[in-house]
Amino acid sequence: MNPIEPVPCFVGGDEMPLGASFDKHDPATGRPNARVAEADAALVDAAVTAARAALRGPWGRTTLDQRIAFLEKLAAHMEASLATIVAAEIADTGKPVTVTTGIEIPRAIANLRAFAEIARQAPEETFETPMAGGRARNRVLRHPVGVIGIVAPWNLPLLLLTWKVAPALVCGNAIVVKPSEHSPRTALMLARMAKACGLPDGVLNVVHGHGAGAAGAFLVAHPGVDAVSFTGETRTGEAIMRAAAAGPRPVSLELGGKNPALIFADCDLNAAIAGTARSMFDNCGQVCLTTERVFVQRPIFERFAAGLAAAAKALKPGDPRAPETTLGPAISAVQREKVLGLYATAKAEGAQVLTGGGALEMPAPFADGYWVEPTLWAGLPDTAEICRREVFGPCAHLSVFDDEDEVVARANASEFGLAATVWSTDAARVERVGAELQSGTVWANCWRVRDERAPFGGFKRSGIGREGGARSLDFYSELKTLCVFE
Ligand code: NAD
Repeated sequence: MNPIEPVPCFVGGDEMPLGASFDKHDPATGRPNARVAEADAALVDAAVTAARAALRGPWGRTTLDQRIAFLEKLAAHMEASLATIVAAEIADTGKPVTVTTGIEIPRAIANLRAFAEIARQAPEETFETPMAGGRARNRVLRHPVGVIGIVAPWNLPLLLLTWKVAPALVCGNAIVVKPSEHSPRTALMLARMAKACGLPDGVLNVVHGHGAGAAGAFLVAHPGVDAVSFTGETRTGEAIMRAAAAGPRPVSLELGGKNPALIFADCDLNAAIAGTARSMFDNCGQVCLTTERVFVQRPIFERFAAGLAAAAKALKPGDPRAPETTLGPAISAVQREKVLGLYATAKAEGAQVLTGGGALEMPAPFADGYWVEPTLWAGLPDTAEICRREVFGPCAHLSVFDDEDEVVARANASEFGLAATVWSTDAARVERVGAELQSGTVWANCWRVRDERAPFGGFKRSGIGREGGARSLDFYSELKTLCVFE
């Protein structure tokens, strides 16, 4: 039996008494494994006040070079603590250890180094304006925005947190983070490690708790928050934007998706099957970039579908700490019920179930965990609910297409536009289709390859604004033009 770990809030450099709290369950076993603080409005206010005070302290006088050096120090510290961070992330999410150790935590750390480098390389913009009797020199200067409210999801907890915390810090802001109630541990760990690396008290605060009507809502509505950076569901993004309208305060919204994969008959079939399987089943389908709509050109449909079903059956659910495990559970009982409810919807809509389609029965000690079967459907029209709504589970619907224009139109006929994947060996086709797809990211013959310098975000209901590279520096900075007559 795992011990129940307390997860307190971190405000003004101190861990707060637990106070009101809730149970957090291990997704792999369904058993409680943490007691998490539920911050009330007063504690959220204290965190925002601490952040504001920190801006007036030594942090407000740091140079860019000092902040870059801090991020690099924190990255090295986290690297040395990799095993502890991995253990915390697994306890919260049930993700397989190969994924956490091999990809997610290293990428979370890489975000710190990447934004240190992006800030170091950022060119100073200057413009000379000819004038009678001389000229004016316009220089673009960056100031911190102030206190940033960061509201994060549970699917890639530390990775998505450092994606926001790193640029916010390097730009000189103070932060109040509200991690997901389902994944509180690594945010607290980040704040502890930042303090150990010398970050002044109050610069990075963590308030735990739920979203609507609770800590998340208190934070985004707080008038002392100058900007809100959010990743999560589109519906939550709407609520956050409404809250940020008071002020008004800027928002960066990274929201949901219903991502298409376009599999052309001229693709490298084995690579396309392996890549699409990864894009559907990694993290149990709980990645905003997950493929949930697969369009396969008619001549290869049967072979592709059979290969994908074989890849689904080859997944190994099990102990997240065992190196052979390749499939983890859904994050929570509620998420499992949501996914199973949509599996039932697919059946009710008349889908042909190619594989899976229900709950995954697991032996002890995982029998009460939140397991769902990897699932493939076919035979539904694009208008079916399962082909339109984000499931956020290890599943996708496969349908046949005949020509390029048709598939581009069908892929674009979605209210979302976060990511799309194209599999084809025809370079000219890749260029054409890549240009036509309404999607913040298009991958061709690969999936989830990320470069922190490239813009990232969504078309349509998948988000507002872009993060990554200079776009992040712009969001977390007030830009000022200093115009001097010379
Ligand atoms: P969610 O919207 O339910 O919760 C995200 C965070 O918002 C949590 O911390 C939650 O407590 C908080 N929250 C909820 N309601 C709130 C409110 N009214 N006010 C303030 N805070 C509130 O999302 P989730 O279930 O944690 O994450 C899954 C979703 O996130 C999926 O839709 C996925 O596509 C999306 N996502 C998008 C990206 C991206 O980059 N576009 C990345 C990861 C996840």
